[in-house]
Amino acid sequence: MSRKPTLTSSSGKPYPTNETSKTAGARGPVLMEDHYLLEKLAHQNRERIPERVVHAKGWGLQGKFTVTQDITDYTCAKLFSEVGKTTEVLSRWSTVAGESGAADAERDVRGFSLKFYTEDGNWDMVGNNTPIFFIRDAFKFPDFIRTQKRHPKTNLRSPESMFDFWAGQPESVHQVTILMSDRGIPRTPAHMNGYGSHTFSLWNAKGERHWVKFHFKTQQGHDWLSDDKAAEIIGHTRESYQEELWHMIQDGNFPKWTLYIQVMKEEEALQTDFNPFDLTKVWPHKDFPLIEVGELVMDTFPENYFQLVENAAYNPSNVVPGIGFSPDKMLQARIMSYPDAHRYRLGTHYEALPANAPKLAKVNHYHKDGAMRFFTNDFGNPDAYYEPNQYDGPVADETADEPPLRIDPEAVAARFPQEEAEIDYVQPRALYAEVMDDAERDRLHRNMAGGMAPVSEPVKERWLAVLKRVHPDYEAGVRRALETGEHGEPSLPVTDDTPTKTEDA
Ligand code: NDP
Repeated sequence: MSRKPTLTSSSGKPYPTNETSKTAGARGPVLMEDHYLLEKLAHQNRERIPERVVHAKGWGLQGKFTVTQDITDYTCAKLFSEVGKTTEVLSRWSTVAGESGAADAERDVRGFSLKFYTEDGNWDMVGNNTPIFFIRDAFKFPDFIRTQKRHPKTNLRSPESMFDFWAGQPESVHQVTILMSDRGIPRTPAHMNGYGSHTFSLWNAKGERHWVKFHFKTQQGHDWLSDDKAAEIIGHTRESYQEELWHMIQDGNFPKWTLYIQVMKEEEALQTDFNPFDLTKVWPHKDFPLIEVGELVMDTFPENYFQLVENAAYNPSNVVPGIGFSPDKMLQARIMSYPDAHRYRLGTHYEALPANAPKLAKVNHYHKDGAMRFFTNDFGNPDAYYEPNQYDGPVADETADEPPLRIDPEAVAARFPQEEAEIDYVQPRALYAEVMDDAERDRLHRNMAGGMAPVSEPVKERWLAVLKRVHPDYEAGVRRALETGEHGEPSLPVTDDTPTKTEDA
């Protein structure tokens, strides 16, 4: 007798054959009653779910986080409660604009998302490989993303739209500078930093709140691809990240990051010379030094990509007691938008999927039916299906509430009127003039010119004017690269020749 398991239908019925359809006679038509065949075909038709509108192409690993320094003065979050404590983590890194089949080595911002399975529920750190973003108000987010995706008529990526949008949103120049710098094409996810990007808050057992930024610094060192190298790799393989991560894990060469935080006292938000809740700004290291917290090691390749990585749903709303939000407008919008996207993409009860279900916390909610209701509310009493009830069903715990805000966010925002604000140019100027060396600036000029090459003259001039306001050498360098053509191929994944450019644009 065979020791192999018996092949069954999804209802568990043994398969008599997995070779041929059931027909009426040797040459007759296939019978409707061949439900094995029908099930097989029907399943194949349903193997795809809607891909993410952004961050569709991703790579993920499993691993753990270990606390190396005591930060209990700042937070009562249990995952940080003692040095040496470890927490299981699921990561997903991604590009933003490309579809799920896009090449890994494209110039783009990378998503950097981590799900920490803590005993107080999951903490999702839904970050990027950049400490900032293109815009500070989510009202502009759908417009911005549309400029990064395909043009509605040509169905091609449109650099004209990208630079037109950026030129109309000069606050974006900080992030576009990082995008066009060496860090715009990391060699792999292991060779880049992760940033929480938004300002969050930490609160401690005494109810004191501090504002905080999260930084996961790569221990592999930054490594990046030039446009030419990336084009060569993409010509050879579109899956360079997945391949390299696979080999790293196979070889026991586990990628690691050190978690640091920057901390700001609650009232200090009223004194900084930049808006600490503006997602287009960093907190200068000299004023807010990095404080070490722990180490992230990703050491396991998921057994099934779709089950864990495609089904992974990260929500900035998933914080745990001891970690809170901030008045950052982009963060506030993501708190709504991410779970909304997941309910659309995965279904109402998506957080019951293995990738998303807490591993240490018991889930006790009164949500009722809907797609994927394949679990019971295990309260020990079926009568307790509403609240309040007389049957000892779950009740709220007011100690989980975060401390009240002691500052007025409007008073912070009012200090930074945004029309034509010089403040938007200060930090990109520091990055360009003080952080980058000559060689980095030279590559930035060429990369930027490569991206701009297909763009109409008026849009080029508008964007060059933004660069000039950052630094005259920036504009001059990019203009020179444009004029001499010393920029190689366009550095964004551009495939059109701006076909919708109008005569008088
Ligand atoms: P610092 O000199 O202390 O920090 C500069 C930081 O720049 C480095 O620590 C490094 O970040 C980062 N960096 C280096 N090369 C690049 C690049 N090509 N693209 C993006 N970041 C790069 O000065 P400040 O803290 O005063 O910041 C000066 C400028 O540096 C900022 O205006 C901002 O543009 C940029 N920056 C600042 C960060 C911060 O959190 N303060 C973080 C990242 C960039 P890292 O150490 O994280 O690798």
